Amino acid sequence: MRYEGEIPNTGDKVGLYFCECHSSQLCERFDFDDLETFAKEFPQIAVIRREPKMCGEGSINQLKNDIKEHSLDRILLATCAPDKHLEEFRTASVEMGINRYLVDAINIREQLAAIHANDPEGARIKARDQFAMAMANILKAKPANKVFAIVDETRCNGCEICYTVCDKGAISMVPDPYGRVQKISHPDPEKCWGCGVCVTSCPVNVMDMTVYSNEQLEGQVDSFLERLHPDRTNALVFACHWCAYQAADAAGAKGLPIDPDFRIIRSLCSGRIDPDWVLKAVSRGADGVLLMGGKPNQCHFKSGNMRTMSRMKLIKLLMDQMGLDGHRFRVEWVNPDEPEEYARAVNEFIKDLRELGPNPFKSLDTDYSHAQQRKK
Ligand code: SF4
Ligand code: SF4
Repeated sequence: MRYEGEIPNTGDKVGLYFCECHSSQLCERFDFDDLETFAKEFPQIAVIRREPKMCGEGSINQLKNDIKEHSLDRILLATCAPDKHLEEFRTASVEMGINRYLVDAINIREQLAAIHANDPEGARIKARDQFAMAMANILKAKPANKVFAIVDETRCNGCEICYTVCDKGAISMVPDPYGRVQKISHPDPEKCWGCGVCVTSCPVNVMDMTVYSNEQLEGQVDSFLERLHPDRTNALVFACHWCAYQAADAAGAKGLPIDPDFRIIRSLCSGRIDPDWVLKAVSRGADGVLLMGGKPNQCHFKSGNMRTMSRMKLIKLLMDQMGLDGHRFRVEWVNPDEPEEYARAVNEFIKDLRELGPNPFKSLDTDYSHAQQRKK
């Protein structure tokens, strides 16, 4: 099956590094050949390497040589859980002049090979989709020195909502240098924790994050929507990095079997997920969206999940009014040390979606342009 979405040639040169992970048996049944064939369709991929053990010193030296020899400007790793070795690859890439946030990873081992070992075909199809989403993410990434909130000062209306929702004291309201309103928002990069709750609270969409930006996250949603499978259940899972995504990695490490008919997007906090993205996904044909974050009092960012909880209740109501069953959207709280809970939540959600049947909007080619307009 060819990639059906648009693959614009952005002129970027991406180095892609697969780890076949000969140090564990988790990847034994994974179809690396198919993913490599698919990756070659992307014009931005300048180098592909398949390493038996990417975390060895030889592979890191190979990466450094490639950056120099092929003038690579972005690196995508198809390896194990990002928390294990991503930092080493980022450090090596920084030494060679690539910004650390232009280096990212797709988790082949725990979140594809291990959890879908009983369904190699499902894993193969999912790997292609996750790869396309990872490419959408890395190609839209911009160099940065830290993850923090930013504001388009020329469009801030001074409503103070971001100032109110930020419980880290990272936002001050300062005099408007353009003289349009009395005060405008001014996030302090040093105090910002990077949760993104302010960004999704801004009523006029003039906030963003330096890393894991709106463009990067929504780009992954778009990539998912371009590759919906008419003959399968298409569930989209948003998982916060610190809780649900860690639980997902742990589920892989334990080899817990999980239904492959879902695609995952990692965000730093569940409060970073824009309700518009959920509505966009279901109105364009996703069979359901599952949002996963840490349990109350467990949120890495203290209260990001509480914001999510109150905001997302409205989504169900809206979906019911749109003629979509609100049950197609669910929020689940899973802590990092609860891999069984993660597996249960995902498996149950997909099973329930199958009982609901396909999204009735799937065949309608529904547009979601009103949200796009509002964002401009
Ligand atoms: S991203 Fe989070 S910590 Fe940073 S300014 Fe926004 S709400 Fe505050
Ligand atoms: S929520 Fe948006 S519009 Fe309101 S003060 Fe903050 S940045 Fe400005």
